[in-house]
Amino acid sequence: MVKWNQGIDGGCAFCKQQLETRDHLFFRCTYSSSLWTRLMCQLMGTHYTEEWSNLILFMSQSPLSRTQMFLARYVFQTTLYMIWRERNARKHGEKPRPQETLFRVIDRQIKNRTSTIKTQDKNLENAFQAWIVSVGT
Ligand SMILES: [Zn+2]
Repeated sequence: MVKWNQGIDGGCAFCKQQLETRDHLFFRCTYSSSLWTRLMCQLMGTHYTEEWSNLILFMSQSPLSRTQMFLARYVFQTTLYMIWRERNARKHGEKPRPQETLFRVIDRQIKNRTSTIKTQDKNLENAFQAWIVSVGT
């Protein structure tokens, strides 16, 4: 966008210090990386990463259990959505929401989703418990 329009503000809506790129937003920026750490550090364990390309590898290689991968993918997509929405809100002049608020919204959404899993898939039934243990909420 910066290349197309020299007048545009291509800076990161969160830290305002770096150019906004995919890799910066997800999850090199201090705002998104601290959120990502809180959500995923425990769940991903030794696979934990803040690098987009490594995350895509992690998601495609599925190195963890079915329940853990289900959680990881759901947290991943929810977090991308929430960060992008917050980024757009800030670009449109709305009041910035702290990282803590996004954490609580995402945590609530994961709990709502995992507490309503009623399937033949016994492995996924403990996802709610696994999430609470992993994130400590
Ligand atoms: Zn930033």
